[in-house]
Amino acid sequence: MSVIATFGSHSALQILKGAKDEGFGTLCICQKGKEIPYKSFGVADEIITIDAYDDFFKHEDVLQERDAVLIPHASMIAYLGIDKINTIKVPYFGDKKILSIEADRDKQNAWLKDAGLTVPKVFATPEDIDRPCIIKFHGADGGRGYFLAQNTDGFYAQIKDRINDDYIIQEYVVGVPTYIHYFYSPLDDELEVLGFDKRYESNVDGIGRLAVRDQAYFDLHSSYTVTGNHPLVVRESLLPKVFEMGSAVVEHSRKLTPKGLYGAFSLETIITSDLQFYVFEISARIVAGTNVHMNGSPYSYLRYNEPMSTGRRIAREVKHAIERQQLEKVLG
Ligand code: AMP
Ligand code: AMP
Repeated sequence: MSVIATFGSHSALQILKGAKDEGFGTLCICQKGKEIPYKSFGVADEIITIDAYDDFFKHEDVLQERDAVLIPHASMIAYLGIDKINTIKVPYFGDKKILSIEADRDKQNAWLKDAGLTVPKVFATPEDIDRPCIIKFHGADGGRGYFLAQNTDGFYAQIKDRINDDYIIQEYVVGVPTYIHYFYSPLDDELEVLGFDKRYESNVDGIGRLAVRDQAYFDLHSSYTVTGNHPLVVRESLLPKVFEMGSAVVEHSRKLTPKGLYGAFSLETIITSDLQFYVFEISARIVAGTNVHMNGSPYSYLRYNEPMSTGRRIAREVKHAIERQQLEKVLG
């Protein structure tokens, strides 16, 4: 493998820059009209422009000729879909089998629970709601349309014409959202904590700037459309638990697929005032919050003493796999 390729969105800048830093050539598959960041920031040696994501398949042979390895991220998953990803012939970093578990809410919840993590309670029907809940619609659409309800009437008053959509009713946990960036190396059998972020979400983070009186006057409803991310460090005494949770999900994943979870992943948590982590989601691949650490995080600085983004860490794992002739351990 001599080239690292990814789709132009989400965390592509970081993935491509990290690949360059590790000595790879880089290729960006970009939707027409969205090439400018990849040109301007100088991270892509080659850009393949496509009209629609599906057109990727027309160019697969080019990636194969370049001896490329493809790095997945949420935009690729959201726009191509798991079924099409499963037909990709270009070598792919990560375990494709884990994607269908991640995409199935019940399976994902069972994975987290069986790994021993604390998860928010899930209510099977609106009639069961007995506490503040967040209602989330399916799909990685960045939290658009979510709403809060604390009883059955409140649910029906707000769900309206989306009643037949796929949604989940989850206990609303009051605390601080904290996204943990992990990397598990299958080559060295080691779990690393590369950083943390918190999200900047519209409109909830804007509503917080208004007095309660004004919020009520404007009759506002919260939404969680992610628009950016902030870097974060956590209270140091929480770190042992952070490592423990990451190791538990990796270990349990081996019961779910032959290779299990490896590479970059994230636990999306709420930390409560009594310092409990509630894990409300797992992302089994690089998360965009890692972009806040393109030049490395405080934690990756401790571990590597050089700028080490999650994107660069992925490229380094591919490089080590090539050097050790163990590519099969990192390709799914
Ligand atoms: P986009 O390519 O920006 O449309 O993003 C595709 C999906 O990736 C979105 O639906 C989000 O779920 C996720 N995503 C993109 N950027 C971020 C971010 N900065 N933080 C969290 N999730 C993100
Ligand atoms: P998600 O799309 O699942 O990543 O959720 C989007 C946002 O909703 C998160 O960043 C949190 O701010 C919030 N959120 C999600 N689940 C919960 C929960 N169970 N309790 C409180 N807030 C939540």
